Amino acid sequence: MKSSDLLIPTIKEAPNDAKIISHQLMIRAGLVSKLASGLYSYLPIGLRVIQKIEKIIREEMNKSLAQELLMPVAHPAELWQESGRWEEYGPELLRFKDRHERDFCLGPTHEEVVTNIAKQYLRSYKQLPINFYQIQTKFRDEIRPRFGVMRSREFIMKDAYSFHIDEASLGETYQVMHQTYCNIFDRLGLEYKVVLADSGAIGGDSSHEFHVLADSGEDAICFSDQSDYSANIDRAETLPQGEPEPPKQTITVAETPNVKTIDDVCQLLNIKPKTTIKTLVVDGDNNSLIAIVLRGDHELNTVKAAKIKGVKLPLQMADEEKILQQLGCSIGSIGVVDLSIPIIVDYAAACLSDFVCGANEQGKHLTGVNWGRDVSKFVAADLRNVISGDPSPDGKGKLEIKRGIEVGHIFQLGTKYSDAMNANVIGEDGKAVNMNMGCYGIGVSRIVAASIEQNHDDKGIIFPESIAPFQLVIVPINYNKSSRVRKLADELYERFLSQGVEVLLDNRKERPGIMFADSELLGIPHRLVISDTHADSGNIEYKSRNEIDKIEIEFKAAIDFILAKLA
Ligand code: ATP
Ligand code: MG
Repeated sequence: MKSSDLLIPTIKEAPNDAKIISHQLMIRAGLVSKLASGLYSYLPIGLRVIQKIEKIIREEMNKSLAQELLMPVAHPAELWQESGRWEEYGPELLRFKDRHERDFCLGPTHEEVVTNIAKQYLRSYKQLPINFYQIQTKFRDEIRPRFGVMRSREFIMKDAYSFHIDEASLGETYQVMHQTYCNIFDRLGLEYKVVLADSGAIGGDSSHEFHVLADSGEDAICFSDQSDYSANIDRAETLPQGEPEPPKQTITVAETPNVKTIDDVCQLLNIKPKTTIKTLVVDGDNNSLIAIVLRGDHELNTVKAAKIKGVKLPLQMADEEKILQQLGCSIGSIGVVDLSIPIIVDYAAACLSDFVCGANEQGKHLTGVNWGRDVSKFVAADLRNVISGDPSPDGKGKLEIKRGIEVGHIFQLGTKYSDAMNANVIGEDGKAVNMNMGCYGIGVSRIVAASIEQNHDDKGIIFPESIAPFQLVIVPINYNKSSRVRKLADELYERFLSQGVEVLLDNRKERPGIMFADSELLGIPHRLVISDTHADSGNIEYKSRNEIDKIEIEFKAAIDFILAKLA
């Protein structure tokens, strides 16, 4: 392609809202254009990158014998009501009505639709296993769209869904997808880690995420310093820590007027957060409330909390008003002594003794509180985020925490959807069986951002060859003035094209400095520069985007030289 036929809207300065490097560079290189919060257009160069990623994904998915299909973006509410997710999914699900007042949503994921297809067309175990995939636009009304296409509201996902007669078959396909994902991410040139992920209500080791490690990552990934244990913090378990010490203190009421946070309490009473507990209150089923108790310095793990029996989904902190009404004090004063609602205590809080907590009375706290003696009814559970230095749950070493960008997720769903939607086939014994399901997602648009987070320098993007918008750029100096340069550049361009090389000929009437800067900003892996001086010498200048030095090569040898680089 020639630059004159291509929109290259590069800019020097990134907009203020672009906080991370990939977002800045994607805007500066003219890959995407923002329409509104979390909504982006892929401009021609950005789309080329997306299409290259999609091609690799298609090739590997097809190789795994998955079958491509394409499902609608708009889904009727009935399907989501059948699975129970119309209520459960929360505000990320964008719901709307059509002109006949029928309820619809924009698909954030397609388990319901694909299960509906399976239900219609799969009749016998003989048709299984089967794996359907699509590359399609998803919509999630994210609470905080940010970082450009990294967390947008509309984005492109590859999603696949497999159907099986039993768990063993699901396990086999899961392994195939695991390997397929490794092949895909290897070919995309990403450095990634596979980590244990939360598998929702199903439990077990049936979910893995693929993470690109980068400081800008939104996920915390936990690694053992002595084993290969790695897990998303959502999933990383904490273990029970043994019995608390016997009580030494008696309960005493402390006046804590105007105190709202743990830090306030600690400052006032001159104590450390780890000797206090905080009591959070979440909504339970049937308008009930549930207290969740953590050590003062620990953070709630909302994924773990959502699994507490009787908790209303999606997990939600109870309303101030409701707390005041049912418990008689505001959230900052709630404590565990004589609390009238179920109490679930994190393991670390459950082994404290002589701790401080709210007194269930406005402006008062209790000191010297002890489990057992002062609070008899409670359940201990794993409810907090692990912190750096916690013991690894496999018993080997300590946990370290790094940041990761989730680019893929594979998941054994079991029969969750086929049970809810009655999707069955006739088994070998003639009886109907609900199908086991797996699902497998890749964030296609997020990969562009993740790749840039990993591959850039102060001049711009350094795309891996496999996803670069062009493999090669030819920059002729004075293309529009020197007929010699033009002739040589055109000839080279045509020859590369006939060799199937994705080549860009920069024939713009721009200063060389701008053409060089653009080729570097865009991250095109290979660059050839041709000028009158080169024409005199019979040489041409080559530079790899990855290396600092330029080299001179013989003009005649340029094709073979580049082809060897691309091999
Ligand atoms: P996250 O924890 O980042 O919200 P998720 O668990 O909701 O991700 P999945 O439902 O597993 O994501 O979706 C499959 C893939 O789609 C993810 O691995 C991720 O790469 C991508 N993805 C999810 N949400 C977004 C988004 N808002 N913008 C861009 N890509 C996304
Ligand atoms: Mg999400």
